[in-house]
Amino acid sequence: MKMYDITSSIYEGMTVYKDKPEKQPKLNRQTNGYVTETRLELDVHTGTHIDAPLHMVEDGETFESVPMDKLVGPCKVLDLTGVEDRVSKADLESFGLEKDDFVLFKTRNSFVDTFDFDFVFLAKDGADYLAEIGIRGVGTDALGIERSQEGHPTHKTLFGNDIIIIEGLRLKDVEQGEYFMVAAPLKLLGTDASPARVLLFEGLN
Ligand SMILES: [Zn+2]
Repeated sequence: MKMYDITSSIYEGMTVYKDKPEKQPKLNRQTNGYVTETRLELDVHTGTHIDAPLHMVEDGETFESVPMDKLVGPCKVLDLTGVEDRVSKADLESFGLEKDDFVLFKTRNSFVDTFDFDFVFLAKDGADYLAEIGIRGVGTDALGIERSQEGHPTHKTLFGNDIIIIEGLRLKDVEQGEYFMVAAPLKLLGTDASPARVLLFEGLN
């Protein structure tokens, strides 16, 4: 059995959304010579993380509404490295996706470690298509599932259809195929997202 850790590392100076300095994590390490303790200040959308509806929906549900049993189970990594700009319905149709699939997009984003303002994102018609099929969730290797789409239609379509959104995955070393996924977020209450450790296992499903 082979395990892939597809989580991004969290540290001061890491890649954050639109390179905004206020989104950088802060690690404040205190020591008295015997005991060391670090206080961590972290945006909940840092690195690899899972969004909750509240992020884009007024009065939307908070993070505890995201069920763990949808975050652990089979998933499909889709090779979309040929997509230049956005993942649309036409890019997804050939994969034969089925109801309750959890799909992870491996795109050219996985090969860029700095913030790419032109990152590949999921277009509205792609989100509609995934909602029609009734997938469990979608993960992307960008820090956003959409990019500068007015009104955030992709987020809203996915949340409106109970589709979980994972952002900030690192898939460079993972081939297209079927895996068993364990996506384990912090057990935060009342938030609009949570950082998560995401692992893929080969040969478990
Ligand atoms: Zn997010």
